[in-house]
Amino acid sequence: MAENSTLKPISAIRWLVAFASGLVCASLLMSSSLQSLGELSHIFCLVAIALVAYSWVLYSMTMSIGISAITFLCVVWVWALQRSVLLGIDLVALMFLLGIGFWQMRRRFRRFQRMSQVLDDLREETTVKEQAVSHATQLRDALQKKLYRYTQLQAIAERLSYLTEFNGIAQLAVESAFSLIGKSDACLLLLLDTHHQELSLIASKKHDGSMAIRAKHGDPFDRYVLRTHRPLIVSDVRRDFRFTTMGFSDRCVSSVIACPILLNQGVAGVLRLDSAQPAVYSQDDLRFLDVLLGLVETAMANAQLFEKTQQLAITDGLTGLLLARPLSEQLGRELVRADRNHEPISVLMLDIDHFKQYNDKYGHPAGDGVLKRVADILRRVVPPDAAVARYGGEEFIILLPRMIREEARVVAESIRSQVAEQALRPESGMRIKITLSIGIVCFPEDARTEVELIRIADQRLYQAKHDGRNRVCAL
Ligand code: GH3
Ligand code: MG
Ligand code: MG
Repeated sequence: MAENSTLKPISAIRWLVAFASGLVCASLLMSSSLQSLGELSHIFCLVAIALVAYSWVLYSMTMSIGISAITFLCVVWVWALQRSVLLGIDLVALMFLLGIGFWQMRRRFRRFQRMSQVLDDLREETTVKEQAVSHATQLRDALQKKLYRYTQLQAIAERLSYLTEFNGIAQLAVESAFSLIGKSDACLLLLLDTHHQELSLIASKKHDGSMAIRAKHGDPFDRYVLRTHRPLIVSDVRRDFRFTTMGFSDRCVSSVIACPILLNQGVAGVLRLDSAQPAVYSQDDLRFLDVLLGLVETAMANAQLFEKTQQLAITDGLTGLLLARPLSEQLGRELVRADRNHEPISVLMLDIDHFKQYNDKYGHPAGDGVLKRVADILRRVVPPDAAVARYGGEEFIILLPRMIREEARVVAESIRSQVAEQALRPESGMRIKITLSIGIVCFPEDARTEVELIRIADQRLYQAKHDGRNRVCAL
């Protein structure tokens, strides 16, 4: 409002000056026609000069030049008619004023040029600074993303340290890679089956709605990583010379990133992410995947060690058979299941005949060899769902789930005859016959508890010994 109120008087003054200039110019022209009014013309000239000077203050450059030019023409006209000295001086004064005006104008123009130059420089500097700010913002975002990823790694490492089996580790690896690398349609972890030299899908994650994972034994990308032992980034599978001949035109995959999983100095598997968009993955993603897989590999090595230790804890070192305690636990579980499903269970108790004599004659190492070979026969003869344990010394126990007495007797006879038929040759070179005595007990007819079953099996074993050894006692 205050600004408006100051603008109004200025604009009024401008109009007043314009009007006064016009009036003075008209008076000047009129007075020029009257020869007697020479002195009056001089006064009008002075007023005109004053108004011209004032117009330079109030009006824009163009307007001021216009007013000055009109006034100058009027004064020249009057001077040409009257040719008085005073008017000549007025004319010179006006020319001087105009000269000052033009000089000012030139100065202003130069200043304007300088300011435009400064403005251009400022604009250029602003553009450079804007670019720097945008670059710094991008860098900050990338660093924040990196920081987030590496902070997450700490949590993943902690979670991995609690996992002791491969499937859980694989699932966590897949989920972590899928969420932290992002941008992917699917993530797969395949492990190498060393017997068949073939990859098998262990864990996977994909976006809802993306295509089902069909290659359960890996893609050419996985096999490439497996063969080269090196990580892989593909920006566009249809343009990459390594895979162009493999015909991916029908597939919804453009970008691929894959890393080998290294265990025991060899490739144990591959973790792969893919996307339908081309050029999605960066070297940064590959570096992160490498660090993540470092943690996964350590967890898998620990899981392997844990499994081996567990296996050692339940296995007899000499024969490789189960120890008595894990078999007893398994028998407990089987009894519960058999009771619930109304199924039979048979248990065989086996003992090598006159083994002490054998040891005394040929020595303990030869005796150990016999124990190992008997264990091999037991493993070979029993059905796949049976459990075989070294019960202690030269005694063995076999658990036969879902087997009635007669079926168990067939298995026991087969074991007894196969051991008896094998003439085991000790170090001394002499062949000697090894025989077994076997006792059979059946659930639920003979007993319903583990302790009772073992006690009766033991009794029947001694019955077989008593009856002359190398025989089976089932009742
Ligand atoms: P029986 O026909 O009555 O069973 O006679 P046996 O001599 O087999 O029975 P006994 O229980 O008297 O002897 C068992 C022998 O088994 C005693 C021991 O020297 C031997 N033995 C126990 N454990 C081992 C082992 O780990 N290695 C070897 N070499 N011998 C063992
Ligand atoms: Mg014995
Ligand atoms: Mg014995």
